[in-house]
Amino acid sequence: MSDEFEHVARLIESAGSVVALAGAGISVESGIPDFRSPGGLWTRFDPSIYATFESFMNNPTKFWEMAEELNPLLEGAEPNPAHMALVELERLGKCDVVITQNIDNLHQRAGSSDVLELHGTFHTGTCLKCGTRLTYEEIKQAAAGRVVPVCKSCGGSIKPDVVLFGEPLNAAVLQRAVELATECDLMIVVGSGLEVFPAASLPNYAKRGNAKLVFINIAATVSDDIADVIIVEKAGEALPRIVEAYRNLSGAGAEANRRSEYNGIRP
Ligand code: NAD
Repeated sequence: MSDEFEHVARLIESAGSVVALAGAGISVESGIPDFRSPGGLWTRFDPSIYATFESFMNNPTKFWEMAEELNPLLEGAEPNPAHMALVELERLGKCDVVITQNIDNLHQRAGSSDVLELHGTFHTGTCLKCGTRLTYEEIKQAAAGRVVPVCKSCGGSIKPDVVLFGEPLNAAVLQRAVELATECDLMIVVGSGLEVFPAASLPNYAKRGNAKLVFINIAATVSDDIADVIIVEKAGEALPRIVEAYRNLSGAGAEANRRSEYNGIRP
């Protein structure tokens, strides 16, 4: 076992409260591109045109054109070993909550029971005129051959329940995330470039609360200077190895190993 994984396992063992903060990078191995990596979404869709609240309110066509490309990827994606490893940490009593910037629902589908979606979800939408809530299937029906879906009841424009750039986060969700970050003993930041605020400030809250910080990323982040451990590796490889190292250290038991094999996580 390499030292860095054993180091993280020890941090997990000594932590009373462990929180994961996930970004788009955790879902790249599920086939969903992130934003800023080479080939990421923003290399093809300028966010100031395709994904700001203001541009959506002025003319939602560009957003929905981007969604037409992105939705099949989101629909077809399956949780990968990184999502499953966070579920396994939760089963071992070592992941209280997953705070995610992702809108793809993959943590929930993997089995994480407490997922805080900072940036909402693509699974539901809301009519901006009458407030009707729609499921993903209803949004698709509301498009009915058009690019932009409109409300069946009032003809209003439908916005997916994702937080666009320039749009405030849900205040209660953000407050809980800040509290969790401030109070945790260990924050595992996985697949986030930490460039999108206020999500990017959560590791700072954790640090100020004396938590240890573990960053897992294939590249450097702008906040690497505050990390206690940096693992430069794919999330789908690093997180299962962390689970393995923690099990070896804690003797978490044959039962846990059997369950992991069943879940497709490398024992
Ligand atoms: P980002 O694109 O800014 O950063 C992604 C990070 O993941 C990068 O630092 C990259 O080096 C790293 N990365 C890429 N592949 C990786 C892998 N296999 N393992 C580990 N790390 C990997 O994304 P962000 O920091 O999450 O913030 C941008 C915004 O992206 C968020 O607001 C989020 O809502 C949105 N987003 C979400 C999805 C999704 O739901 N899956 C997809 C694209 C963008």
